[in-house]
Amino acid sequence: MKTFPLDILTPEHQFFSTHAEALTIQAPDGSLTILAGHAPLVAPFIPGSLSVKVNGEWKEAFHSSGFLEVLREGVIVFAQACEWPENIDEKRALEAKRRAEERLRQRQSINEHQNSQIALARAMVRLQLARKHINLD
Ligand code: ATP
Repeated sequence: MKTFPLDILTPEHQFFSTHAEALTIQAPDGSLTILAGHAPLVAPFIPGSLSVKVNGEWKEAFHSSGFLEVLREGVIVFAQACEWPENIDEKRALEAKRRAEERLRQRQSINEHQNSQIALARAMVRLQLARKHINLD
């Protein structure tokens, strides 16, 4: 299968760099899959899980909000945060979920409400991935 250079960057580090056969990521209106030769594109994504196919095997990771750039030379993913399932701190995600739910119960501006919903989404995906990883071990 054809591959393409893929770089996944966060503000803190280069999270993953590889030659991928496929990338699937959570776009606002559904999941977006990129294969080698995809037309150039810039697209935003929302908190979710990304899957990368390398040497026939899929690897899954948490991604926060960001955007990706599909260039003729390769694909760059810019995410606010990324974690492999085994690096997700489940207790921290549970706390973040509890705080976001508490904020959503209170009166908030539209912006604050949206931020709380996004924080809740981050926590829920982290928990889902961390628990899936534990159950697969
Ligand atoms: P918190 O309120 O717990 O900081 P958050 O969703 O606001 O959660 P982010 O802004 O998405 O956190 O991430 C900030 C940094 O902390 C990033 O480096 C991210 O990888 C890391 N991080 C956040 N939550 C977790 C977690 N549950 N497990 C591992 N790393 C995490």
